[in-house]
Amino acid sequence: MTTAPSIDLHVHSNFSDGKCTPAELADRAVRHLVRALAITDHDTMAGSVEKAEACQSRGIEGVPGVELSCELDGCEAHILSLFADPSSPCVSRIEELSTSRFSRMEAMLGKLEKIGISICMDDLEASPDGVYGRPHLARALVAQGCVKNVNEAFKRYLYDNGPVHIDKTRLNVAEGVALAKELGGVAVLAHPGVSGLLGDLDEFVKLGVDGIEVYHPKHGNETIARLLRYCGERGLVVSGGSDFHSPGDGPEVGAARTPVDLLEPIRALGLERKG
Ligand code: AMP
Ligand code: ZN
Ligand code: FE
Ligand code: FE
Repeated sequence: MTTAPSIDLHVHSNFSDGKCTPAELADRAVRHLVRALAITDHDTMAGSVEKAEACQSRGIEGVPGVELSCELDGCEAHILSLFADPSSPCVSRIEELSTSRFSRMEAMLGKLEKIGISICMDDLEASPDGVYGRPHLARALVAQGCVKNVNEAFKRYLYDNGPVHIDKTRLNVAEGVALAKELGGVAVLAHPGVSGLLGDLDEFVKLGVDGIEVYHPKHGNETIARLLRYCGERGLVVSGGSDFHSPGDGPEVGAARTPVDLLEPIRALGLERKG
């Protein structure tokens, strides 16, 4: 039960692999007392006007942002750019990542076909810009009755290096951090505790991240305490988000319970970045 206001600086909409429209996300944010919402779709800033309006019309702050697919030594690492400027010329540099997601999905559908499961692009939930991800496939597998839920879809078919998985186009972390900043945004390492990157934090700091997503539904209290200490010692900003994708499947909007007062330092750094 939600009891206190919070912010949520990491959710996904149907502009990438989330199920909800920006309006539906903003409705959920209001319902869960979320005062500021960053709809950080994977590898795209499409829909930024719709996202901003959805928040503004409901009286909450919309924080523009994006989650960039990166890699560190072959391991997946996600870098958020918070308060990124959707009108920045650098937005075009994200396109290589987003367009490759369409052909990757076609190839993943081909792999599924080979193991006897027939799903076509039209069976997937519509994605306005064709920015597809494995969650689309997971939900299509559920809809076809192949699996009971999204989690089972990942466990049986979609897991990393599994029978259907194909690598995405990814930036190296140095490029991703630079791009996050060139977009005028604050570069935040997303969910290090989920990505298995808690031992690599110094490397990310060396590569220039401004902050860490400390609050995340899958970070336990001990991880949160350790990351808060780490950020405090190094002068990094502290962020947090639910990584919400779809109702009834994983944590709800606002589930990370990120304190409201963390927004101002992130905003200040974003303003500084834009000069
Ligand atoms: P992709 O970007 O297409 O490689 O898909 C990765 C996305 O799938 C991540 O952003 C996660 O949100 C989601 N994901 C990964 N593993 C699982 C899982 N076991 N259950 C639900 N979602 C998952
Ligand atoms: Zn996702
Ligand atoms: Fe992520
Ligand atoms: Fe995410």
